[in-house]
Amino acid sequence: MTAPVKKNDRLTVYIEDLTHDGAGVAKVDGYPLFIQGALPDETCEVHVMKTLKNYGFAKVVDITEPSPNRVEPPCPVFNMCGGCQLQHLSYEGQLEWKRKMVRDVMQRIAKIDVPVHPTKGMSEPWNYRNKAQIPFGMNGDVPVAGFYRTKSHAIVDTNRCLIQTDEADAILEGLKPQLWALGLTPYNEETKQGQLRHVVVRKARATNEVMVVLVTKKRKFPQKDVVVEAIRKLVPNVKSIMQNVNPNNTNVIFGDDTICLWGDTTIEDHIGDVRFEISARSFYQVNPIQTEVLYKQALDYAALTGEETVIDAYCGIGTISLFLAKQAKHVMGVEIVPQAIEDAKRNAALNGFTNTYFEAGPAEEVIPRWFKEGKEADVLMVDPPRKGCDNALLETILSERPKRIVYVSCNPATLARDLRVLEDGGYKTQEVQPVDMFPHTAHCEAVAWLELV
Ligand code: SAH
Repeated sequence: MTAPVKKNDRLTVYIEDLTHDGAGVAKVDGYPLFIQGALPDETCEVHVMKTLKNYGFAKVVDITEPSPNRVEPPCPVFNMCGGCQLQHLSYEGQLEWKRKMVRDVMQRIAKIDVPVHPTKGMSEPWNYRNKAQIPFGMNGDVPVAGFYRTKSHAIVDTNRCLIQTDEADAILEGLKPQLWALGLTPYNEETKQGQLRHVVVRKARATNEVMVVLVTKKRKFPQKDVVVEAIRKLVPNVKSIMQNVNPNNTNVIFGDDTICLWGDTTIEDHIGDVRFEISARSFYQVNPIQTEVLYKQALDYAALTGEETVIDAYCGIGTISLFLAKQAKHVMGVEIVPQAIEDAKRNAALNGFTNTYFEAGPAEEVIPRWFKEGKEADVLMVDPPRKGCDNALLETILSERPKRIVYVSCNPATLARDLRVLEDGGYKTQEVQPVDMFPHTAHCEAVAWLELV
Protein backbone atom coordinates (compact mmCIF):
# COMPACT_ATOMS: atom_id res chain seq x y z
CA MET A 1 0.00 0.00 0.00
CA THR A 2 1.32 3.51 -0.72
CA ALA A 3 0.68 6.02 2.02
CA PRO A 4 -2.10 8.47 1.04
CA VAL A 5 -0.43 11.13 3.23
CA LYS A 6 3.16 12.34 3.55
CA LYS A 7 5.33 13.88 6.23
CA ASN A 8 4.29 17.42 7.28
CA ASP A 9 0.79 17.11 5.75
CA ARG A 10 -1.96 18.68 7.82
CA LEU A 11 -5.38 17.13 7.71
CA THR A 12 -8.58 16.70 9.68
CA VAL A 13 -9.34 13.16 10.80
CA TYR A 14 -11.94 11.27 12.82
CA ILE A 15 -10.50 9.03 15.57
CA GLU A 16 -11.97 5.53 15.43
CA ASP A 17 -10.11 3.59 18.04
CA LEU A 18 -7.24 3.41 20.57
CA THR A 19 -4.21 1.15 20.20
CA HIS A 20 -3.24 -1.21 23.01
CA ASP A 21 -0.79 1.46 24.20
CA GLY A 22 -3.36 4.23 24.25
CA ALA A 23 -2.70 6.15 20.98
CA GLY A 24 -5.67 7.29 18.90
CA VAL A 25 -6.20 5.61 15.50
CA ALA A 26 -7.60 7.37 12.43
CA LYS A 27 -7.88 5.85 8.96
CA VAL A 28 -7.14 7.81 5.78
CA ASP A 29 -8.42 5.73 2.85
CA GLY A 30 -7.86 2.65 5.01
CA TYR A 31 -4.31 3.73 5.97
CA PRO A 32 -3.94 3.86 9.79
CA LEU A 33 -2.46 6.94 11.42
CA PHE A 34 -1.46 6.64 15.09
CA ILE A 35 -2.00 9.83 17.03
CA GLN A 36 -0.79 10.10 20.61
CA GLY A 37 -3.19 12.01 22.83
CA ALA A 38 -6.27 11.69 20.58
CA LEU A 39 -9.35 9.82 21.78
CA PRO A 40 -12.04 7.76 19.98
CA ASP A 41 -14.98 9.78 18.62
CA GLU A 42 -12.90 12.95 18.34
CA THR A 43 -12.31 15.02 15.25
CA CYS A 44 -8.78 16.42 15.20
CA GLU A 45 -6.55 18.46 13.00
CA VAL A 46 -3.26 16.57 12.87
CA HIS A 47 0.26 17.04 11.56
CA VAL A 48 1.83 13.96 9.92
CA MET A 49 5.22 13.19 11.52
CA LYS A 50 6.27 10.00 9.78
CA THR A 51 4.89 7.57 7.21
CA LEU A 52 5.79 3.93 6.78
CA LYS A 53 4.48 1.46 4.22
CA ASN A 54 1.45 0.26 6.17
CA TYR A 55 0.89 2.93 8.81
CA GLY A 56 2.04 6.37 9.94
CA PHE A 57 2.29 8.69 12.95
CA ALA A 58 0.80 12.13 13.45
CA LYS A 59 0.44 14.60 16.29
CA VAL A 60 -2.58 16.60 17.35
CA VAL A 61 -2.61 20.26 16.31
CA ASP A 62 -6.16 20.98 17.39
CA ILE A 63 -9.08 18.97 18.73
CA THR A 64 -12.02 20.34 16.75
CA GLU A 65 -14.63 18.07 18.32
CA PRO A 66 -13.54 16.59 21.66
CA SER A 67 -14.82 13.27 22.98
CA PRO A 68 -17.45 13.57 25.72
CA ASN A 69 -15.09 11.34 27.75
CA ARG A 70 -12.13 13.74 27.50
CA VAL A 71 -10.96 15.20 30.83
CA GLU A 72 -8.14 17.53 31.84
CA PRO A 73 -5.23 15.26 32.90
CA PRO A 74 -4.65 16.07 36.59
CA CYS A 75 -0.89 15.42 36.48
CA PRO A 76 1.21 18.37 35.26
CA VAL A 77 3.80 16.10 33.59
CA PHE A 78 1.27 13.70 31.98
CA ASN A 79 2.37 14.69 28.46
CA MET A 80 6.04 14.03 29.19
CA CYS A 81 6.14 11.10 31.63
CA GLY A 82 5.85 7.54 30.30
CA GLY A 83 4.07 6.23 33.41
CA CYS A 84 0.42 6.93 32.49
CA GLN A 85 -1.16 6.89 29.02
CA LEU A 86 -4.86 7.57 29.69
CA GLN A 87 -5.24 10.43 32.17
CA HIS A 88 -6.99 12.45 29.42
CA LEU A 89 -9.78 9.84 29.31
CA SER A 90 -12.37 9.82 32.13
CA TYR A 91 -12.04 6.82 34.45
CA GLU A 92 -15.43 5.45 33.28
CA GLY A 93 -14.17 5.87 29.70
CA GLN A 94 -11.00 3.91 30.57
CA LEU A 95 -13.00 1.04 32.07
CA GLU A 96 -15.29 0.91 29.05
CA TRP A 97 -12.29 1.00 26.67
CA LYS A 98 -10.63 -1.92 28.47
CA ARG A 99 -13.85 -3.95 28.20
CA LYS A 100 -14.12 -3.11 24.51
CA MET A 101 -10.51 -4.15 23.91
CA VAL A 102 -11.22 -7.57 25.47
CA ARG A 103 -14.50 -7.92 23.56
CA ASP A 104 -12.78 -7.07 20.26
CA VAL A 105 -10.07 -9.73 20.62
CA MET A 106 -12.66 -12.33 21.65
CA GLN A 107 -14.44 -11.73 18.34
CA ARG A 108 -11.43 -11.07 16.11
CA ILE A 109 -8.79 -13.48 17.46
CA ALA A 110 -10.59 -16.10 19.58
CA LYS A 111 -13.64 -15.99 17.28
CA ILE A 112 -15.97 -16.76 20.15
CA ASP A 113 -19.16 -15.23 21.33
CA VAL A 114 -18.70 -14.97 25.09
CA PRO A 115 -20.03 -12.57 27.74
CA VAL A 116 -17.36 -9.96 28.59
CA HIS A 117 -18.50 -8.24 31.77
CA PRO A 118 -18.02 -4.54 32.57
CA THR A 119 -14.47 -3.92 33.84
CA LYS A 120 -14.16 -4.05 37.63
CA GLY A 121 -12.47 -0.76 38.51
CA MET A 122 -11.36 1.08 41.64
CA SER A 123 -13.57 3.45 43.59
CA GLU A 124 -10.48 5.64 44.25
CA PRO A 125 -8.23 5.09 41.24
CA TRP A 126 -5.25 7.14 42.54
CA ASN A 127 -2.25 6.45 44.81
CA TYR A 128 -2.68 2.76 44.12
CA ARG A 129 0.87 1.62 43.30
CA ASN A 130 2.65 0.11 46.28
CA LYS A 131 6.09 0.22 44.67
CA ALA A 132 7.83 3.31 43.26
CA GLN A 133 11.15 2.76 41.47
CA ILE A 134 12.54 6.25 41.21
CA PRO A 135 15.57 6.81 38.95
CA PHE A 136 18.05 9.46 40.12
CA GLY A 137 20.21 10.93 37.39
CA MET A 138 21.45 13.98 35.51
CA ASN A 139 19.79 16.09 32.84
CA GLY A 140 22.92 17.76 31.51
CA ASP A 141 24.57 19.05 34.68
CA VAL A 142 21.32 19.28 36.69
CA PRO A 143 20.57 16.44 39.14
CA VAL A 144 17.01 15.12 38.69
CA ALA A 145 14.72 12.34 39.96
CA GLY A 146 11.29 11.26 38.81
CA PHE A 147 10.11 8.87 36.12
CA TYR A 148 11.21 8.00 32.59
CA ARG A 149 9.76 9.47 29.43
CA THR A 150 7.98 7.03 27.08
CA LYS A 151 10.46 4.60 25.45
CA SER A 152 13.39 6.57 26.81
CA HIS A 153 15.74 6.85 29.75
CA ALA A 154 15.46 10.63 29.99
CA ILE A 155 14.16 11.43 33.49
CA VAL A 156 11.17 13.77 33.86
CA ASP A 157 12.00 15.62 37.08
CA THR A 158 8.99 15.15 39.36
CA ASN A 159 8.10 15.89 42.98
CA ARG A 160 4.76 14.18 43.10
CA CYS A 161 3.20 11.21 41.33
CA LEU A 162 -0.56 10.79 41.52
CA ILE A 163 -0.56 7.01 41.20
CA GLN A 164 2.17 6.43 43.81
CA THR A 165 1.92 6.54 47.59
CA ASP A 166 2.42 9.63 49.77
CA GLU A 167 5.59 8.00 51.08
CA ALA A 168 7.07 7.90 47.56
CA ASP A 169 6.20 11.58 47.17
CA ALA A 170 7.87 12.37 50.49
CA ILE A 171 11.08 10.77 49.20
CA LEU A 172 10.86 12.60 45.87
CA GLU A 173 10.07 15.99 47.29
CA GLY A 174 11.81 15.87 50.65
CA LEU A 175 14.82 13.63 50.18
CA LYS A 176 15.94 14.75 46.72
CA PRO A 177 17.26 18.21 47.75
CA GLN A 178 18.85 16.78 50.88
CA LEU A 179 20.73 14.14 48.92
CA TRP A 180 22.18 16.73 46.58
CA ALA A 181 23.14 18.87 49.61
CA LEU A 182 24.95 15.86 51.13
CA GLY A 183 27.00 15.47 47.98
CA LEU A 184 25.42 12.14 47.07
CA THR A 185 25.88 12.35 43.32
CA PRO A 186 23.24 10.82 41.04
CA TYR A 187 24.37 8.17 38.60
CA ASN A 188 24.95 9.31 35.04
CA GLU A 189 24.02 6.59 32.52
CA GLU A 190 26.33 8.03 29.86
CA THR A 191 29.50 8.67 31.84
CA LYS A 192 28.81 5.78 34.31
CA GLN A 193 29.83 8.17 37.09
CA GLY A 194 27.88 8.98 40.26
CA GLN A 195 26.74 6.96 43.24
CA LEU A 196 22.93 6.98 43.60
CA ARG A 197 21.04 5.05 40.88
CA HIS A 198 17.49 4.43 42.13
CA VAL A 199 15.43 4.78 45.27
CA VAL A 200 12.75 2.11 45.58
CA VAL A 201 9.86 2.78 47.97
CA ARG A 202 7.53 -0.13 48.85
CA LYS A 203 4.49 0.11 51.04
CA ALA A 204 2.41 -2.66 52.55
CA ARG A 205 -1.13 -1.28 52.36
CA ALA A 206 -2.68 -3.50 54.98
CA THR A 207 -0.06 -2.85 57.70
CA ASN A 208 1.18 0.59 56.61
CA GLU A 209 4.79 -0.65 56.78
CA VAL A 210 7.28 0.96 54.38
CA MET A 211 10.62 -0.18 52.97
CA VAL A 212 13.07 2.21 51.30
CA VAL A 213 15.89 0.74 49.18
CA LEU A 214 18.76 2.98 48.04
CA VAL A 215 20.41 1.46 44.97
CA THR A 216 24.01 2.65 44.79
CA LYS A 217 26.86 2.05 42.39
CA LYS A 218 29.41 1.32 45.12
CA ARG A 219 29.14 -0.25 48.51
CA LYS A 220 31.00 2.61 50.17
CA PHE A 221 28.32 5.01 51.45
CA PRO A 222 29.77 7.62 53.84
CA GLN A 223 26.52 9.66 54.02
CA LYS A 224 24.42 6.67 55.10
CA ASP A 225 23.73 7.68 58.74
CA VAL A 226 22.50 11.14 57.76
CA VAL A 227 20.40 9.67 54.93
CA VAL A 228 18.82 7.09 57.27
CA GLU A 229 17.91 9.87 59.74
CA ALA A 230 16.44 11.99 56.91
CA ILE A 231 14.30 9.09 55.63
CA ARG A 232 13.02 8.30 59.13
CA LYS A 233 11.93 11.92 59.55
CA LEU A 234 10.23 12.11 56.15
CA VAL A 235 8.54 8.69 56.39
CA PRO A 236 7.72 8.02 60.06
CA ASN A 237 6.15 4.63 59.20
CA VAL A 238 9.36 3.33 57.58
CA LYS A 239 10.22 -0.11 58.95
CA SER A 240 13.15 -1.08 56.77
CA ILE A 241 15.92 0.91 55.07
CA MET A 242 18.13 -1.14 52.75
CA GLN A 243 21.05 -0.49 50.43
CA ASN A 244 21.43 -2.48 47.23
CA VAL A 245 24.71 -2.30 45.33
CA ASN A 246 24.55 -2.36 41.54
CA PRO A 247 27.99 -1.72 39.99
CA ASN A 248 26.91 -3.03 36.57
CA ASN A 249 26.49 -1.13 33.35
CA THR A 250 22.86 -2.22 32.86
CA ASN A 251 19.20 -1.18 32.77
CA VAL A 252 18.36 -3.73 35.46
CA ILE A 253 17.58 -1.86 38.68
CA PHE A 254 18.99 -4.19 41.33
CA GLY A 255 22.45 -5.68 41.80
CA ASP A 256 23.17 -8.86 43.75
CA ASP A 257 24.32 -7.37 47.03
CA THR A 258 21.67 -6.13 49.53
CA ILE A 259 22.60 -4.68 52.95
CA CYS A 260 20.33 -3.61 55.79
CA LEU A 261 21.05 0.01 56.82
CA TRP A 262 18.35 0.31 59.47
CA GLY A 263 15.38 -1.67 60.86
CA ASP A 264 14.02 -4.98 59.52
CA THR A 265 14.88 -6.70 56.25
CA THR A 266 11.24 -7.38 55.29
CA ILE A 267 7.82 -5.77 55.52
CA GLU A 268 4.53 -7.64 55.80
CA ASP A 269 1.38 -7.17 53.75
CA HIS A 270 -1.99 -8.94 53.59
CA ILE A 271 -4.16 -9.75 50.59
CA GLY A 272 -7.53 -10.79 51.96
CA ASP A 273 -6.47 -12.71 55.07
CA VAL A 274 -3.30 -14.17 53.55
CA ARG A 275 -0.02 -12.74 54.90
CA PHE A 276 3.01 -12.02 52.72
CA GLU A 277 6.55 -11.20 53.70
CA ILE A 278 8.19 -8.86 51.19
CA SER A 279 11.95 -8.35 50.90
CA ALA A 280 13.85 -5.74 48.86
CA ARG A 281 13.84 -7.81 45.70
CA SER A 282 10.65 -9.92 46.03
CA PHE A 283 8.18 -9.81 43.20
CA TYR A 284 4.81 -8.64 44.53
CA GLN A 285 1.65 -7.38 42.87
CA VAL A 286 1.78 -3.56 42.64
CA ASN A 287 -1.92 -2.84 43.18
CA PRO A 288 -2.95 -4.92 46.20
CA ILE A 289 -6.52 -3.56 46.33
CA GLN A 290 -7.30 -4.75 42.81
CA THR A 291 -5.20 -7.90 43.27
CA GLU A 292 -7.76 -8.96 45.86
CA VAL A 293 -10.59 -8.23 43.38
CA LEU A 294 -8.76 -10.22 40.67
CA TYR A 295 -8.05 -13.20 42.91
CA LYS A 296 -11.61 -13.26 44.27
CA GLN A 297 -12.80 -13.46 40.68
CA ALA A 298 -10.35 -16.28 39.93
CA LEU A 299 -11.50 -18.07 43.09
CA ASP A 300 -15.18 -17.63 42.14
CA TYR A 301 -14.55 -19.11 38.69
CA ALA A 302 -12.59 -22.00 40.24
CA ALA A 303 -15.77 -22.82 42.28
CA LEU A 304 -13.89 -24.96 44.79
CA THR A 305 -15.71 -27.19 47.25
CA GLY A 306 -12.69 -28.27 49.31
CA GLU A 307 -12.24 -31.56 47.44
CA GLU A 308 -10.25 -30.35 44.45
CA THR A 309 -6.62 -30.52 43.51
CA VAL A 310 -5.58 -27.30 41.79
CA ILE A 311 -2.50 -26.54 39.70
CA ASP A 312 -1.38 -22.90 39.72
CA ALA A 313 0.87 -22.41 36.70
CA TYR A 314 3.12 -19.31 36.53
CA CYS A 315 2.52 -18.88 40.26
CA GLY A 316 5.12 -16.17 41.10
CA ILE A 317 5.46 -16.00 44.90
CA GLY A 318 2.34 -18.14 45.23
CA THR A 319 -0.13 -15.31 45.80
CA ILE A 320 -2.99 -17.01 43.92
CA SER A 321 -2.01 -20.47 45.24
CA LEU A 322 -2.29 -19.33 48.86
CA PHE A 323 -5.56 -17.57 48.13
CA LEU A 324 -6.89 -20.89 46.70
CA ALA A 325 -5.36 -23.11 49.39
CA LYS A 326 -8.04 -22.26 51.95
CA GLN A 327 -10.73 -23.72 49.71
CA ALA A 328 -8.93 -26.54 47.93
CA LYS A 329 -7.77 -29.96 49.04
CA HIS A 330 -4.34 -29.49 47.54
CA VAL A 331 -2.60 -26.76 45.50
CA MET A 332 0.52 -27.29 43.38
CA GLY A 333 2.31 -24.16 42.14
CA VAL A 334 5.00 -23.93 39.47
CA GLU A 335 7.11 -20.90 38.56
CA ILE A 336 10.34 -20.41 36.61
CA VAL A 337 12.13 -18.05 39.06
CA PRO A 338 13.64 -20.10 41.93
CA GLN A 339 13.69 -17.17 44.44
CA ALA A 340 9.96 -16.64 43.87
CA ILE A 341 9.40 -20.32 44.75
CA GLU A 342 11.44 -19.83 47.94
CA ASP A 343 9.15 -16.88 48.81
CA ALA A 344 6.07 -19.00 48.02
CA LYS A 345 7.23 -21.75 50.39
CA ARG A 346 8.06 -19.25 53.15
CA ASN A 347 4.70 -17.51 52.78
CA ALA A 348 2.85 -20.85 52.83
CA ALA A 349 4.58 -21.66 56.13
CA LEU A 350 3.93 -18.14 57.49
CA ASN A 351 0.21 -18.73 56.94
CA GLY A 352 0.27 -22.27 58.30
CA PHE A 353 -0.75 -24.00 55.05
CA THR A 354 0.09 -27.70 54.84
CA ASN A 355 -1.78 -28.46 51.60
CA THR A 356 0.53 -26.62 49.18
CA TYR A 357 3.48 -27.80 47.08
CA PHE A 358 5.75 -25.51 45.05
CA GLU A 359 8.32 -26.34 42.42
CA ALA A 360 10.69 -24.17 40.40
CA GLY A 361 10.91 -24.77 36.65
CA PRO A 362 9.20 -24.06 33.32
CA ALA A 363 5.46 -24.80 33.59
CA GLU A 364 5.55 -26.50 30.18
CA GLU A 365 8.07 -29.07 31.48
CA VAL A 366 7.07 -29.48 35.13
CA ILE A 367 3.31 -29.94 34.60
CA PRO A 368 3.64 -32.74 31.96
CA ARG A 369 6.01 -34.50 34.37
CA TRP A 370 3.51 -34.18 37.23
CA PHE A 371 0.84 -35.80 35.08
CA LYS A 372 3.28 -38.54 34.01
CA GLU A 373 3.96 -39.24 37.69
CA GLY A 374 0.23 -39.84 38.15
CA LYS A 375 -0.80 -36.52 39.70
CA GLU A 376 -4.23 -35.24 38.75
CA ALA A 377 -5.81 -31.80 38.69
CA ASP A 378 -9.47 -30.83 38.80
CA VAL A 379 -8.81 -27.16 38.19
CA LEU A 380 -5.94 -25.55 36.33
CA MET A 381 -5.14 -21.91 37.03
CA VAL A 382 -2.77 -20.16 34.61
CA ASP A 383 -1.39 -16.62 34.94
CA PRO A 384 1.31 -16.38 32.25
CA PRO A 385 3.43 -13.36 31.28
CA ARG A 386 2.44 -11.17 28.29
CA LYS A 387 3.43 -13.74 25.68
CA GLY A 388 0.75 -16.15 26.96
CA CYS A 389 0.94 -19.91 27.59
CA ASP A 390 3.67 -22.00 26.04
CA ASN A 391 2.40 -24.32 23.30
CA ALA A 392 3.69 -27.40 25.07
CA LEU A 393 1.60 -26.47 28.11
CA LEU A 394 -1.53 -26.04 25.95
CA GLU A 395 -0.89 -29.46 24.41
CA THR A 396 -0.58 -31.02 27.86
CA ILE A 397 -3.87 -29.41 28.93
CA LEU A 398 -5.61 -30.81 25.85
CA SER A 399 -4.32 -34.31 26.48
CA GLU A 400 -4.90 -34.37 30.27
CA ARG A 401 -8.23 -32.52 30.10
CA PRO A 402 -8.73 -30.96 33.56
CA LYS A 403 -12.41 -30.13 33.77
CA ARG A 404 -12.06 -26.44 34.60
CA ILE A 405 -9.50 -23.81 33.59
CA VAL A 406 -9.21 -20.30 35.00
CA TYR A 407 -6.98 -18.13 32.84
CA VAL A 408 -5.66 -14.86 34.36
CA SER A 409 -4.13 -12.71 31.63
CA CYS A 410 -2.26 -9.41 31.38
CA ASN A 411 -2.49 -9.37 27.58
CA PRO A 412 -5.92 -9.73 25.90
CA ALA A 413 -4.40 -10.63 22.51
CA THR A 414 -2.50 -13.71 23.74
CA LEU A 415 -5.44 -14.66 25.98
CA ALA A 416 -7.68 -14.72 22.90
CA ARG A 417 -5.10 -16.70 20.89
CA ASP A 418 -4.82 -19.34 23.64
CA LEU A 419 -8.61 -19.54 24.14
CA ARG A 420 -8.95 -20.41 20.45
CA VAL A 421 -6.56 -23.37 20.91
CA LEU A 422 -8.41 -24.54 24.03
CA GLU A 423 -11.81 -24.19 22.34
CA ASP A 424 -10.57 -26.29 19.40
CA GLY A 425 -9.51 -28.93 21.92
CA GLY A 426 -12.94 -29.25 23.56
CA TYR A 427 -13.19 -26.41 26.09
CA LYS A 428 -15.88 -23.76 26.12
CA THR A 429 -15.21 -20.28 27.45
CA GLN A 430 -18.02 -19.37 29.83
CA GLU A 431 -17.27 -15.77 30.82
CA VAL A 432 -14.52 -13.17 30.74
CA GLN A 433 -14.09 -10.55 33.45
CA PRO A 434 -11.71 -7.60 32.88
CA VAL A 435 -10.24 -6.16 36.09
CA ASP A 436 -8.49 -2.79 36.14
CA MET A 437 -5.17 -3.38 37.89
CA PHE A 438 -3.46 -0.23 36.54
CA PRO A 439 -5.78 2.80 36.31
CA HIS A 440 -4.66 5.60 33.92
CA THR A 441 -2.36 3.24 32.06
CA ALA A 442 -3.19 1.17 28.99
CA HIS A 443 -2.53 -2.16 30.76
CA CYS A 444 -5.52 -4.47 30.67
CA GLU A 445 -5.98 -7.56 32.85
CA ALA A 446 -8.76 -10.14 32.43
CA VAL A 447 -9.87 -13.49 33.87
CA ALA A 448 -11.48 -16.15 31.70
CA TRP A 449 -13.38 -19.22 32.89
CA LEU A 450 -13.44 -22.37 30.75
CA GLU A 451 -15.18 -25.71 31.18
CA LEU A 452 -14.54 -28.97 29.39
CA VAL A 453 -17.69 -29.79 27.42
N1 SAH B 1 0.53 -15.58 39.51
C1 SAH B 1 1.51 -14.66 40.02
C2 SAH B 1 2.52 -14.15 39.01
C3 SAH B 1 2.09 -13.95 37.60
S1 SAH B 1 3.25 -13.12 36.58
C4 SAH B 1 0.82 -13.51 40.73
O1 SAH B 1 -0.38 -13.35 40.65
O2 SAH B 1 1.49 -12.76 41.42
C5 SAH B 1 3.83 -14.41 35.52
C6 SAH B 1 4.88 -15.28 36.16
O3 SAH B 1 5.25 -16.29 35.24
C7 SAH B 1 6.18 -14.58 36.53
O4 SAH B 1 6.40 -14.77 37.90
C8 SAH B 1 7.24 -15.27 35.67
O5 SAH B 1 8.49 -15.39 36.32
C9 SAH B 1 6.62 -16.61 35.43
N2 SAH B 1 7.06 -17.37 34.24
C10 SAH B 1 7.45 -16.91 33.03
N3 SAH B 1 7.68 -17.91 32.19
C11 SAH B 1 7.42 -19.07 32.85
C12 SAH B 1 7.45 -20.46 32.49
N4 SAH B 1 7.79 -20.85 31.28
N5 SAH B 1 7.11 -21.36 33.43
C13 SAH B 1 6.74 -20.97 34.68
N6 SAH B 1 6.69 -19.67 35.07
C14 SAH B 1 7.03 -18.73 34.17
